[in-house]
Amino acid sequence: MNIEEYRGVWVFIEQRDGQLVDVGLELLGAGRDLADKLEVDLCGILLGHHVKELSNELFEYGADKVYVIDDPVLANYRTETYMKAVGDLVRKYKPEIFVYGATANGKDLASAVATEVMTGLTADTTILDVDVEKRLFEASRPAFGGNIMATILCKKHRPQMATVRPKVMKKLEPQPGRQGEIIEETIDLKEDDLRTKVLEIVRNAKKAVNLEDADIIVAAGKGIKDEKGFKMVEALADVLNATVGASRDVVEAGLCGHDHQVGQTGVTVTPKLYFAIGISGAVQHTVGMANSETIIAINTDPDAAIFNVSHYGVVADAFEIVPLLTEEFRKALQ
Ligand code: FAD
Repeated sequence: MNIEEYRGVWVFIEQRDGQLVDVGLELLGAGRDLADKLEVDLCGILLGHHVKELSNELFEYGADKVYVIDDPVLANYRTETYMKAVGDLVRKYKPEIFVYGATANGKDLASAVATEVMTGLTADTTILDVDVEKRLFEASRPAFGGNIMATILCKKHRPQMATVRPKVMKKLEPQPGRQGEIIEETIDLKEDDLRTKVLEIVRNAKKAVNLEDADIIVAAGKGIKDEKGFKMVEALADVLNATVGASRDVVEAGLCGHDHQVGQTGVTVTPKLYFAIGISGAVQHTVGMANSETIIAINTDPDAAIFNVSHYGVVADAFEIVPLLTEEFRKALQ
């Protein structure tokens, strides 16, 4: 492999039902910075059926070029088809850096492409940078339970690939009317050649907990103790029209589902307001919420680590203060 032949920064653009998934736009923001430093194009990789018109939005969010493959076999995500399409593009155009959202599909695709084109992959990164002189991609992620940040390099293979968690990178301000180049490619696969068929898509009937888009999150920690305490937290969330978050211990105690979990093995959130109620502030939790705009922590322990990342701290028993707050907010917001 002659790594000198590889140039350009690529972002995998995920779409579902013809709607762009936000993380792709966030990665264009991060990718723009890398591409500018390396003085190369920033390119979006857009696969699907009837998706070409989404390219305009990608140019507005920073892409210089969009490689589009529009084909019925790509209508729904399948590892087999997407890996073949992306693998062919990589072999033909040779990008030096390629990033994907760390969504279920993004993680699946990135690892499949890594084996297909024989390169490395850093999973779940939170900081991206580049050593311009050596053209080395620096992909950093928490390691050893979040106690250190590891910067991982891929020196001998290209592209240098990473998945990035949703909500970590910032979208650029869109520039309406910004233009770019669309490069249309094809995929050499027919439905009959494929081993996997999508027979039906069954949406999760349960109302999804959308922590990632919530403006206000009221999160419960082990300090709320039991179901009664969790209901108390839910009542505060209800008054504030907020989404309920939780630490891992609360999820493991069976008080709510894993989709409520904030942190390293849960979701990363950046709401305008985050209430941490009875949460100690372990790094595995704070890594997922420390970038919230305003954090209010309530904890009986004045030395709790959560106070190190919070903007307002209340040293108090949650069972006394949360019902009072709920009542006061109810009156104020009526
Ligand atoms: P505790 O640490 O038990 O804290 C309870 C807090 O409540 C204490 O600070 C206490 O002072 C306070 N308190 C007690 N009574 C009251 C009261 N009446 N009023 C007010 N405060 C009170 N954790 C996550 O949250 N998310 C993750 O994604 C995650 N991933 C992990 C991944 C790995 C690999 C590992 C090893 C751990 C992970 N953890 C995660 C677990 C994490 O290390 C902590 O164990 C967990 O966050 C602690 O949860 P907690 O703060 O609710 O409970």
